[in-house]
Amino acid sequence: MNNLNKSDIYFHTAADHLQISDRIRTLMLTPERDVKVQLAIRLDNGEIGTFIGYRVQHDSARGPMKGGLRYHPQVDDEEVRTLAQLMTWKTAVVDLPYGGAKGGIAVEPRSLSKGELERLTRKFVDQIHDMVGPDTDIPAPDMGTNGQVMAWFMNQYQKYHGFQPACVTGKPLELHGCEGREEATGRGVVIIADRLFHQLGQSLKGKKVALQGFGNVGSFTAKFLHERGAIVVAITDVRGGCQNPAGLDIPELTEYAKTNNGVQGFPGSEPVTNEQLFATKCDLLIPAALGGQLTKDTAPLVKAKYVVEAANDPTTPEADEIFHERGILVVPDILANAGGVTVSYFEWVQNRSVVHWPLDEIRAKLEQRMNAAFDAVWQISQQSNVTLRTAAYVLGIGRVAKATELSGVS
Ligand code: NAD
Repeated sequence: MNNLNKSDIYFHTAADHLQISDRIRTLMLTPERDVKVQLAIRLDNGEIGTFIGYRVQHDSARGPMKGGLRYHPQVDDEEVRTLAQLMTWKTAVVDLPYGGAKGGIAVEPRSLSKGELERLTRKFVDQIHDMVGPDTDIPAPDMGTNGQVMAWFMNQYQKYHGFQPACVTGKPLELHGCEGREEATGRGVVIIADRLFHQLGQSLKGKKVALQGFGNVGSFTAKFLHERGAIVVAITDVRGGCQNPAGLDIPELTEYAKTNNGVQGFPGSEPVTNEQLFATKCDLLIPAALGGQLTKDTAPLVKAKYVVEAANDPTTPEADEIFHERGILVVPDILANAGGVTVSYFEWVQNRSVVHWPLDEIRAKLEQRMNAAFDAVWQISQQSNVTLRTAAYVLGIGRVAKATELSGVS
């Protein structure tokens, strides 16, 4: 089964619940535009490097399309299509005036020099600049990209279209970026985890957590878990992992990871593999790295009672079923990691109004929106006796279906 079919299963479960017609389903599942471009650049050694870039614009029923730009060797048509679709439902779940898109380049960014990465990004903009923009499709950082890549993107885009800071979000603060954008996805994940335990009459404080991934999302998730009194007992990244049943010192680990290229070998901890991480004795498991990590093979290992999906598409439908049967509660990606796109929306609004909001205001607005989205999903789940994933899809695709029907087709 490929990725596209997998995510369609979640869609159809919710669409059955909403009694959406076959015609509207086809309309909603078919991407509006699906583009693949060749990117040839001059490498530092004088050779020509050729790469493939992708941009899928899935649905614009609720507004301009929004979605990250991923630089990773596994980027391909199917992955980008799946992630674009997830963005459509995600922006609807948090009620942003957006549709969904996604893009990427099949490349290992660590294998390129900074100059090569800049040339690759600019070449990609050359190829797609006429199909993206503040009113059509607004990229943002994802795996393997960051504020620097967004700055190059904006600079190249502006060569064609003039001053347009809202053409991309996740920019550095010095270049029309937004306070708190870098931390936003991790902050949102922890707001959602906190709200979950609150709804259950428990507290995040004192809960033991295992975390996969220590990049942008994973490291900020760990920081805010620590700040709210949770105990992070195990973390893995692409190179290895570290664990300590008594809790890892997150501020020290963050410094250590910067100078040691990852979390492995952190003094006072034991090594841990991904499989061992999934099997860690803890209350909460947070995947914050790649998609497709929780499968029919790894889901039975999980000891946590709760999973909060910080990564996009980390759980296969087979694993989702196993979690359901085992009574493990899963907060889905389209709700849990929506903090990033929410603060991207705040950045876009500020860019378009030429204003700058302070960090406190951004954090308060984020907390309010994430809690409102969680409560709406929780309520559907309780009222309709469905999983939190189905409830989030019911909320998200219900809003998109309504907008699609109201707009009509000429
Ligand atoms: P990143 O590139 O900053 O970090 C990725 C992390 O995953 C790194 O720590 C890397 O070492 C780790 N990793 C990679 N392969 C691994 C493996 N096989 N085992 C264990 N760890 C591995 O990326 P990010 O921006 O933190 O994104 C992480 C996830 O969150 C992705 O699924 C992304 O789509 C999702 N996401 C990101 C944002 C955002 O704002 N950056 C928003 C929403 C969702």
